[in-house]
Amino acid sequence: MQHTRLCWRCMTNGFLCSVCGQIHPPAPTSYSIKAPDAFIAIPDEERATRAQISAEQCILDERQFFLRGRIVLPILDQQNQPAPELLDPRSGPAPEIRIEAPYFAYGCWVEVSPKNFFRTHELWKTPGREDEPPFPGYLANELHHYPRTLGLEVLVATQPVGRRPHLTVLDQTHPLAQEQMTGLSTERIQQIAEQILHHPEPR
Ligand SMILES: [Zn+2]
Repeated sequence: MQHTRLCWRCMTNGFLCSVCGQIHPPAPTSYSIKAPDAFIAIPDEERATRAQISAEQCILDERQFFLRGRIVLPILDQQNQPAPELLDPRSGPAPEIRIEAPYFAYGCWVEVSPKNFFRTHELWKTPGREDEPPFPGYLANELHHYPRTLGLEVLVATQPVGRRPHLTVLDQTHPLAQEQMTGLSTERIQQIAEQILHHPEPR
């Protein structure tokens, strides 16, 4: 997981929680939801007949089609900070290693049209698939620490083989879209961790 590499600076610290006053382990920089909310809402005994689900794709009642994707948000105040394994002064960073700016990610599901679902499926292992034009989708999970996110319109950008599609929230008045544009501070990442720890999302 990217998390270990990106959070090296806070790995020894943890953070002081403003809700309970305890020190918690370092605030995660990624969260993921394993299924669309519509799948989770189906009673266990009906899932086998109504749903097909894998780690990346889901079909409900043969009429709703979902892909797993990522909402990626830049982290504001650690930008371009290299990971410790790249800091050895004897060797210097290997030129082929690309140092990426740290980011925060929500792994979540997006509902897409049957056409885009099957196109994505068809290109699943095709090199160069990231050249496909982005296509529309609707968030299929509620992120409870934001105003309503279920049904929020996003643009789905296909990534190179092996990577989940990136989702860009289109409604620029929504706080999640604004954070996607402006980035998250360390304080905001801790606040998200506090909200999730102390107000677990109903399931
Ligand atoms: Zn706490």
